[in-house]
Amino acid sequence: MMFAHESAVSGCAGCSLSAGLARRGLLGGLILAGAALGLAPGRARADKPAPYKALLLSCVDPRTQAPVAAWMNEGVPDSHPDSLLGLYSQFTIAGAAVGVVAPAFPKAWGETFWDNFSASIELHRIENLIAVDHSNCGALGIAYGRDILDDPKREFAQHLKDATELKRQLALRHPKVNFQAWYVARDKCGNFTEWRNLVAGPPIG
Ligand SMILES: [Zn+2]
Repeated sequence: MMFAHESAVSGCAGCSLSAGLARRGLLGGLILAGAALGLAPGRARADKPAPYKALLLSCVDPRTQAPVAAWMNEGVPDSHPDSLLGLYSQFTIAGAAVGVVAPAFPKAWGETFWDNFSASIELHRIENLIAVDHSNCGALGIAYGRDILDDPKREFAQHLKDATELKRQLALRHPKVNFQAWYVARDKCGNFTEWRNLVAGPPIG
């Protein structure tokens, strides 16, 4: 399915943004490129519905890439009743929500995420942030001590705490953007198939 303004939103704008960043070699170029494209915050937008639905914040763990993509691409009643295939942007960082908010990681990690999130809002007009954390996450061990990974209750509680903190930060930065956070754990076969809600949000339609 093609959207009427797909090329203007995801094609030309995305390429121009990348080119702008490459030319300037500065993160600040992101803002300048957005302004040059007429994408500055506050600019009146067309009355068409947003073409894209969400940004997915996920972990770099190789084991979780395929399961998380499959989950996004299928209908999930409490999250996204219809497939989000081709309808979401993605930011992947060690720890997902933990990587953005845990004090143990450099502050730049969180700032880089929020800068990219703002760019995705401007470029793709997304209205939802989905965070997916996972069990046995090495980044959680780095941030809070490796032994936390041996205590499933403590492990889950920390992911819940960090996802809640991420929601708090989102509300300060982008109060109109909806939020939901999920946790995927391994089943008895070691596959990431057991999904639990961390922070409930409105289903994305
Ligand atoms: Zn991880």
